[in-house]
Amino acid sequence: MSVEKIDTLIVGAGQAGVAMSEHLGEAGVPHLVLERGRIAERWRSERWDSLVANGPAWHDRFPGMEFAGDPDGFVAKEEVADYFAAYARKINAPIRCGVEVRAVRRNAGRPGFTVTTSQGVIEAERIVAATGPFQKPIIPPLVPDDAGLMQIHSSTYRNPAQLPEGAVLVIGAGSSGVQIADELLRAGRRVYLSVGPHDRPPRAYRGRDFCWWLGVLGKWDMAAPAPGTEHVTIAVSGARGGETVDFRRLGNQGMVLLGRTEAYRDGRLSFAPDLRQNLDRGDENYLSLLDEADAYIRRNGLDLPEDPEARRREPDPDCVTKPIPDLHLAAAGIATVIWATGFAVDFGWIKADAFDERGRPIHQRGVSVEPGLYFLGLPWQSRRGSSFIWGVWHDARHIAEQITIQRKYSEYQGKAQRMLQEA
Ligand SMILES: Cc1cc2nc3c(=O)[nH]c(=O)nc-3n(C[C@H](O)[C@H](O)[C@H](O)COP(=O)(O)OP(=O)(O)OC[C@H]3O[C@@H](n4cnc5c(N)ncnc54)[C@H](O)[C@@H]3O)c2cc1C
Repeated sequence: MSVEKIDTLIVGAGQAGVAMSEHLGEAGVPHLVLERGRIAERWRSERWDSLVANGPAWHDRFPGMEFAGDPDGFVAKEEVADYFAAYARKINAPIRCGVEVRAVRRNAGRPGFTVTTSQGVIEAERIVAATGPFQKPIIPPLVPDDAGLMQIHSSTYRNPAQLPEGAVLVIGAGSSGVQIADELLRAGRRVYLSVGPHDRPPRAYRGRDFCWWLGVLGKWDMAAPAPGTEHVTIAVSGARGGETVDFRRLGNQGMVLLGRTEAYRDGRLSFAPDLRQNLDRGDENYLSLLDEADAYIRRNGLDLPEDPEARRREPDPDCVTKPIPDLHLAAAGIATVIWATGFAVDFGWIKADAFDERGRPIHQRGVSVEPGLYFLGLPWQSRRGSSFIWGVWHDARHIAEQITIQRKYSEYQGKAQRMLQEA
C-alpha cells in the first residue's frame, strides 16, 4: 500500500497553523495542514458564548486581511473563527479538516517522521506542531468530586443559564475568570472571585488602546517574563466595547473578592491573606503603565488628550477591608465552582527526544532540539506576543525561514555526488 508523503506537515489549523501555511506557501515548501475539528476550532467550541477578542480589530489580526466593521471594535469569537476560515481560503491553504494526528514518531536511521492519523499513515520530512498554547485545562486537585458541587473549567463555561441555581465561586482572576465572574454578576448571581497575582493594564489611556501602548513601549516584544512574574496572569477585557478591569469596582458592585484559594477541608475552602497585596500589585502595574505612557508622550511630543479619570481609585469594598479567610461552600449557597486556572501543553503524541522532564518542548524560537521538529504558538515562544493572533504570524515567518534553510542543506550534494550524477 502506498503511503502519502509530504515535505512539511503542520498539525492544527488554528491561527498558528494558518499563519504557518501562509509562510510556507510563499517559500514554496510543499506542505499539508491536518486539523481534527474545523479551522480555528477552539474559538468555536472551547470558549464561552459572549467572548469577544481582547484586542481591538485593527490589532488582533494578520497583516494580510482586515476584519469587516469597526477597526476599534472587539470582534465576537465566532467572527474571529470565521476570519481564520476566510484567511485560509484566501491563501489557498491546503488544510484537511476532521483528521486527528494520533502519533508522530521520529524515523530510525533516516530523516523524517512517520505520522499516524485517524485516516492512515503519512510520511513527513518535517513537522510543525501548531496545537495551541492552551491545550489541556488545569484544575488543581483541591475540591473533591463528591463535594456536592458542579465544578467546571473556564474552557467549558458557556453562559449563566448552563449553571445550576445558586452562588458561583470563580477561582482565578485573569482575563477569563474576571470576564466570566462579571457576566454572572450581571446575570443576577451572587459571585465570589478568588484573585491571585495579576497584571491589570488600562483598557485605554489618553485615547490609545493598551495594545498600542504595549506595542510602542516594546512590551509585546519582551523575550521573557520579568523575574518573579512568571505566574502573574493578565486581566483585560473587550466586553461591552472594552473596559478596564477594576477589581475594586466589581467589589463595590457586589462581587465578593477573596484571596488566592489555598485548601479545602470538610466543605470549607480557605484563602490566602493576600487579597489586598494582589490588588495593590495590580494597581502598581496599572499605574506604571500610565507613567510610562506619559513619559513616552512627553519624549515624543505627542498631542494626546489628558486622562485624569484614569488615576482615580475606587474605595476599597468591605471584602478588601475585612478579608474573608474561609468559606463554608454550602452555607454560602455556592452551587458551582468555575476553575479559571489556565492550561498546560500536552505533546504526549510526539514520540521524539525533544521535551524536558515536565513535558515542555526544548526549543529556540520554536526550532526544536530534534531536527525537523518545530513548534508554533507556544506561550513566550520568542516573545510575549507569541501566543497572540498578531504575534504568531511573525513567529511563523521565522520558522518558515528556518525550514527553508534546512531544506537547502538537505538538497546540497557534495562534489563527488555531483560528478557521479553528471557522468
Ligand atoms: C479565552 C481565551 C481568549 C483569547 N482571546 C484572545 C484574543 O482576544 N486575542 C489574541 O490575540 N489571543 C487570544 N487568546 C490567545 C490565543 O490567540 C488563542 O489561544 C488561540 O486559540 C491560539 O491559537 P493557536 O492556533 O496557536 O492554537 P489553537 O487555537 O489551540 O489551535 C490548535 C488547533 O489544533 C487542533 N489540534 C490539536 N491537537 C490536534 C491533533 N492531535 N491533530 C489534529 N489537530 C489538532 C485543534 O483542534 C485546534 O484547532 C485567547 C485565549 C483564550 C483561552
